[in-house]
Amino acid sequence: MEKIIFATGNEHKMVEIRMILDGLGMEILSQKEAGIGADIVEDGQTFEENALIKARGIAKIAAENPQYKNTVVLADDSGLEIDYLGKEPGIYSARYLGEDTSYDIKNQALLDRLEGVPEEKRTARFVCAIAAAFPDGTSEVVRGTMEGAIGHETAGENGFGYDPIFFLPEYGCTSAELSPEKKNELSHRGEGLRKMREIIEKRKVQR
Ligand code: IMP
Repeated sequence: MEKIIFATGNEHKMVEIRMILDGLGMEILSQKEAGIGADIVEDGQTFEENALIKARGIAKIAAENPQYKNTVVLADDSGLEIDYLGKEPGIYSARYLGEDTSYDIKNQALLDRLEGVPEEKRTARFVCAIAAAFPDGTSEVVRGTMEGAIGHETAGENGFGYDPIFFLPEYGCTSAELSPEKKNELSHRGEGLRKMREIIEKRKVQR
């Protein structure tokens, strides 16, 4: 394995991915950099299923190009689970209230749905599944999580998406108030990527 293609068009994610997968001795390309424009339909029922669908779908396209013969394709699927709402928005986090709806509106809607709900029932977590499709046709999937709670108001300017309402009790702030370095250290995506890095390292040694 010489190259990694990460199946995302999100530059924000690529920065995090490059930081965590640095030093593997493999070239890391975004889907765009690899020249793959396809958008895979994520119609799975879990984060893991969706990540695997994406990784396998892009790997199939990459395999048509001899340049990517020895390439591992990675993909992620992530979202926010709020326990009081039966784990909503879950795998529909990006699509919640419509893909193009601003996160100011989405976050306020979730705060409104939790109006009056006591502290102990506001538990939530970010989940991230990372899948890998290897050149030998096998695949693997891992999960990372970050536990927290839904706050009572938005706070913080860093991060993206639901970060301004995701409160971390042990840090006394939201994930939008963490520095990017600290968020990488604590985040669901960081944990998932570190687990996947170990799997890739082991596979490289076995070759
Ligand atoms: P994905 O790109 O399909 O994995 O969509 C994940 C969605 O979950 C994002 O659009 C956000 O709404 C939400 N999400 C995932 N990770 C985070 C995070 O670290 N902070 C805030 N929101 C997140």
